[in-house]
Amino acid sequence: MSTQRLSSTQLLEKLISFDSTSRNSNLPLIDFIQEYLAGFGVKSTRVDYEKDNKTNLYATIGPDIEGGVVLSGHTDVVPVDGQDWSNDPFGMVEHDGRLFGRGACDMKGFIAVALAAVPDFVAQDLKRPIHFAFSCDEEVGCTGVRPLIDHIIDEMPKPGMVIVGEPTLMKVVDAHKGACRFKTTITGHEAHSSCTHLGVSSILVAGKMLNEIDRIAEDYRQRGDSSGRFDPPYTTVQVGMIEGGTANNIIPGKTTFDWEARMLPEHSLEELTSRISAFSKTLEPEMKAISEKAGIKTSVENAIPGLAAQEESPAEVLALHLAQANGTQAVSYGTEAGLFQRAGIPAIVCGPGSIEQAHKADEYVELSQMQQCETFMQRLTHHCTT
Ligand SMILES: [Zn+2]
Repeated sequence: MSTQRLSSTQLLEKLISFDSTSRNSNLPLIDFIQEYLAGFGVKSTRVDYEKDNKTNLYATIGPDIEGGVVLSGHTDVVPVDGQDWSNDPFGMVEHDGRLFGRGACDMKGFIAVALAAVPDFVAQDLKRPIHFAFSCDEEVGCTGVRPLIDHIIDEMPKPGMVIVGEPTLMKVVDAHKGACRFKTTITGHEAHSSCTHLGVSSILVAGKMLNEIDRIAEDYRQRGDSSGRFDPPYTTVQVGMIEGGTANNIIPGKTTFDWEARMLPEHSLEELTSRISAFSKTLEPEMKAISEKAGIKTSVENAIPGLAAQEESPAEVLALHLAQANGTQAVSYGTEAGLFQRAGIPAIVCGPGSIEQAHKADEYVELSQMQQCETFMQRLTHHCTT
C-alpha cells in the first residue's frame, strides 16, 4: 500500500483543518497522521494521555537501534476565541508568500514539513533512525508529552537527541527559561469583624505572603543572569490572580492566589519553594494560636523545566549544521525541550515561523520558512545515511 506524496503545504492545510485546540480531542488528527505514515509502511505507536480523547504518537523510520534524531512537535493549538481572524482559522489561506491558519507556525508547520519528508526518509537506507514524537496538551503546560517521554525512556532504544520544532525562524535555540505555576491557599479563621482578636484574616496573611513574593522577585532581579543571554536578564516572579473573603463584616477565612515564576535554567525550583515554605512557617504559629486549622499551603501546579545550554551538545552541533547557522540563541518562552533534556536526551529548539505570530489572530508561517525547513530535513536525511 502506498500513499500519494503530499507537499508540506498540502499537509499543513490538512493539519490545520483539524481543530485541535487543547480542550478538544486530538484523535482525528492523530488518526490522519497514523494512516499517512502507514501508507509509507511506517508503524507508529500511540501513547495515551487521556484514554479515548488525547494521545501522543511515536514512530521510527530506519534501524531499531539507539541513537538517531527525534523530531518533536505538539499537535494542539491555542483557542481562537475572541480573536478577530480575516478568514476561517481552520481553513488554510495562502496569500503574499504566507500560509495563514491556527497552528501555521505553532507548530503544525514543522510537523507538516517532517511528514512531507517521510517518503525521502523511507527511500533511503538510514543508518541512524529518525523518530517522530508528536504530543498533545503542550499549550496547557507541556503536560501531554510527559507519558510520551516516559515511554521513550522505558520502552524504546534511547534516541541520541531531540529537535523540538517550535517557531524560531529556523534559528537554533539552545536555552530557554522554565515556567512554574503555584497556588497558595491561606486558611484563616472566620469571626465577626468586630472581634479581630478571635479571628485570623486570611487576606492580611496573604498580604504578607505577597510582600515576600515581591522581595523574592526583587532578589532575582538583583542576581541577574550570569549567561547574559536572556531578556529580561533575570528570573521573573508574578502574581496573576487572587480571591478571598465573603463580606466586609466577616474576618475572611480563606484566600487563594495564583502566581508563577519564569526561571533561568541556572535557578532551581527547590530554592524558591523552600524560601516560600520557610517564610510561611514564620507566620503560622501566630495563626495556629487562634485556630489549629489555620495555615498556609503552597503547591506547585505545574513546572516546565528550563532548557540549559550544554557545551558540545550533539543536538546543538547537528542542528547548527542542518540549519546552516553559526550561533545559538536563548529565548524566554518554555518548550518541551527542557523536559527531554531533564530525561537525559540532548535537546534543541529549531523550527519554521516566528513566535511573534504564534497565538495571535491571522497566525501565519512564511513559505520561505517552510522551504528552509525542507532543506533542513534534506540535510537530516543525508546525515542519517552516513
Ligand atoms: Zn508551540
